Order: sequence, then C-alpha cells, then structure tokens
Amino acid sequence: MTTPTSAANTPRYILMHDNDNVAIVVNDGGLAAGAVFPNGLTLLEAVPQGHKVALRDLAKGDRVIRYNVTIGFAAKDLPAGSWLAEHNVEMPAARELEGLPIATIKPPPMDPLEGYTFEGFRNPDGSVGTRNILAITTTVQCVSGVVEFAVERIKSELLPKYPNVDDVVGLEHTYGCGVAIDAPGAPIPIRTIRNIALNPNFGGQAMVVSLGCEKLQPTRLFPKGSIPIQNAGGADPGLVCLQDAQHVGFMSMIDSIMKQAEKNLAELNKRQRETVPASELVVGVQCGGSDAFSGVTANPAVGFATDLLVRAGATVMFSEVTEVRDGIDQLTSRATTPEVAEAMIREMAWYDAYLTRGGVDRSANTTPGNKKGGLSNIVEKAMGSIVKSGSSPISGVLSPGEKLTQKGLIYAATPASDFICGTLQLAAGMNLHVFTTGRGTPYGLAEVPVIKVATRNDLANRWHDLMDINAGRIASGEATIADVGWELFQMLLDVASGKETWAEKWKLHNALVLFNPAPVT
Ligand code: CA
Repeated sequence: MTTPTSAANTPRYILMHDNDNVAIVVNDGGLAAGAVFPNGLTLLEAVPQGHKVALRDLAKGDRVIRYNVTIGFAAKDLPAGSWLAEHNVEMPAARELEGLPIATIKPPPMDPLEGYTFEGFRNPDGSVGTRNILAITTTVQCVSGVVEFAVERIKSELLPKYPNVDDVVGLEHTYGCGVAIDAPGAPIPIRTIRNIALNPNFGGQAMVVSLGCEKLQPTRLFPKGSIPIQNAGGADPGLVCLQDAQHVGFMSMIDSIMKQAEKNLAELNKRQRETVPASELVVGVQCGGSDAFSGVTANPAVGFATDLLVRAGATVMFSEVTEVRDGIDQLTSRATTPEVAEAMIREMAWYDAYLTRGGVDRSANTTPGNKKGGLSNIVEKAMGSIVKSGSSPISGVLSPGEKLTQKGLIYAATPASDFICGTLQLAAGMNLHVFTTGRGTPYGLAEVPVIKVATRNDLANRWHDLMDINAGRIASGEATIADVGWELFQMLLDVASGKETWAEKWKLHNALVLFNPAPVT
C-alpha cells in the first residue's frame, strides 16, 4: 500500500460559478467520509469522483445551484459536506416556452481568425470533403446484404486501382418499406437519406441500389433536380435495381453494382487534396456517455474551439434537443435574430410534443452511467452540454435531416441519441465530427472522421488508443481550457487534411440510425 502524500491526493473540488452552492469532487476514485478540503470543508460521507458536495448547509426545498443555474431542490436538509445525487435532489419543471428572452445578447463582433488552412477535396457544388469516399445509397433495408457483399468485393478488387479514393461505404439503414411513408413525420427519414448521399465526403458521386418494389422508390428519394451534381456519364444517380429483369442470378446483381461502382470510382479518383481555408470546415459536435466532468473539461474546451472555428468563418453544429431544452433561455438570447430564436422555440415545442406522445418527458434522457458519473438529472446534464456551443451568436436552425445552407454557429435539432445525432449531422453536411465522453464510448463513423475527447485523465489513460484528446488535464490543473481548445482546433485541421483518428485506425463504424417519428406498418 502506498501512503497518500503527493499533492495529487489532496482533496479537491471544482466550483463552476461563485454563486454555486455545490461543487464536484475531482480526485480519482472519489473521497472518503472525513476527507478535509484545503478550505476546511469536511465530507460527512463518501463522495464518488465527479459527484457533488454541498458547500454550505441546504434546508429541504432550497435551490441546488451549479453553473449559476438551479439544477434542482434539496429533497431534505443537507448540511455542508453532504453528498448530493439523484436520490436527494428534486428536478425542477421544464422552462416554459413563452416569455423567453429573444436575441437579447449582442456580443461585440469577434476578431476574425485568419490564415488557417487545411488540405481538402473541393466539390463542384462548392463544399469541401475531408475524405474521398465512394458511398452507395440504399432505398430500403432489403438490399443491405447484397450491398455489403458487393462492397467487400469492390474493396478487394476495384479500390486498389484507384489510389486517391479512401474507402467504399454502403449506406445501410432500416427505412424504405413497412413504413407509413405519407405520414407527417416521414419527410424526416427520407430527406436524411437523400442529404447523406450529398455529404461533402462523397464528392457528388451519388450511386443508388434499390430493390424495386419498396415504398421509398428512387424517384421519391431523389425527385428530379434534387441531385445538383451530375454523376459520371451525366445521368441521374447511378441506379442499380435488383428486381430488374436483366438480373439473372445473384452474381449478375453484384456485377451491375460493381460496374456502376467502377464508373464512380474513376470520377472520385480525379479528386485531389488542395489547400482551402479553415472556413470550409463543417464540424458537428455532440457528447455521449457524459459525466459531471463533461461540462467542466471537455465540453468547455470544445466550446473554446467552436468560438475559434466561428471566428475563422467555419460552420459548427450543436444538437441534442433534450440536452439544451433546460437552457433554452440561454439559446434564444444568443440568437442573431428573432427569427432564429423563434425557430429554436419551434423545434423545442415539436420535441416536447413528440416526447409527450410517447408518454415521457426530457428526463428520460439520462442514463445509469450519467448518474454514476455524478449527473443528478437532465437539467445538470444540459448545462454541461450547452457549453459545447461556446459563446458565439447562434445564426441558424436546422430541423432534423435538413441540409445546411449557411455558415456560422448553427443549432441542428436532433435527438441526443449518439447514432441518430451523428446520422442527422451527416445529412446536414458535416465533414468532421467532435465527440466528448466521460464514461467512455468507442463511437466512430465510416462516413466522416470522429475526434473523441475524454473528460477525465483516468479514461484517457485507460483508453489511450481510443481517445484522441485528453481534456482531463484541465481538471488536474495541467492545462487550461484554452490550451485544450487550441489543441482541438489544430487537430481538426490536421484530421481534415487526412491525419487518421483512433476510430479510423481501428475502423470503428457505428450504424446509420434514422430518426423516424412516423409509424411503421
Ligand atoms: Ca449524444
């Protein structure tokens, strides 16, 4: 046994705001009852790492304040030094969507950040890719097995002939048939599939495999004119239909797919990286497997990088409706115009109704891991999640599955589910993904590079070959939020230029998961 003598073992907590009456324990492994902080505060009971300690006596019903926000109410008398968690903190009601501050914050314009570039693939429509990928869009789940078989053969037989192409990806999903395709919610999954095909990393070379009898017919997925870029040969998206009479036997289907793939590969192979300004970055940020450190280390560092990106003229999307719902007043006040604020309120109201229809509310968001990591409820989680958006004005709002049409800081409304959020940000047009995690997740996507940021040293050390950046150094005092923010900004430029992330090295690819609020049949 070692004797705890080093400064690292001194009981430490992190306070987010001077008005807060709780703080979170920093020490790895938590602290035992009787531990004394340098200011004399003594723990009345053991407190796990990341969990909250009362800094002063709280009476039953008193507000529990973190981030200078009421995250709950004391469920009983809690003297200074008590451990606060879900069992003794009552959740406040959701903020009403009426009477919100609308575009009230007018920050002074930030200095432009000039001179930063990366090596990207410029597309005919003006967008820029960070990877050069042949993507095969599917209209229905039925064709997935065939597409997967074909992709394996394309990779082994064709891809080596086209050295400028990075990868071949089958865009498989569970939509396309057995769904109420005329329901009011159906446009969301349909436009998501369409817009993913137009992601900058696919170079405008849309290729589609259809079954033939499905509800989502290729002409419905891509109505005339919805593909702005002509494919090789000038045709509308290169289409292979498995039920076509020309297909006799399985191998004839595979031959058709490979023939079309080779045309597209030849076009994609002409793409070359060129120097482009950092303003061409389209970064989707989200968090998953969050803990109480997410809002202290990783997310503030991402927020710092977000501000740098916006200053550089780039686009940053933040999302996850249930994780901003409790901070809606912060967002509406940061909107550049009343229209942007109204769009945010509209998305929140739509999602409130969606959850109510399902018999739940925003509190269904938090996971057992979130709670073990010290997050008592969704209000506390939301306050830590919103800081990913930095402090820039919010200049636009996207509904789920919509494609970006402007730059700057954008609120892209999505569920918080990691896979659904990532899928919808892909549809919006992201070319880089930043993902923060406290509990740890090996998340990755085949379509865009995912940079993962760990909230704690312990996670970064144990998952040293999965986490790209360690923001835990902020909690241990080894780095500032600005240090890690700049490190992330530089890494974004490097990864955009072709540097491999850990998830890419191990080929960790989560499924595309569509958001389908409409019924299945
Ligand atoms: Ca998430």
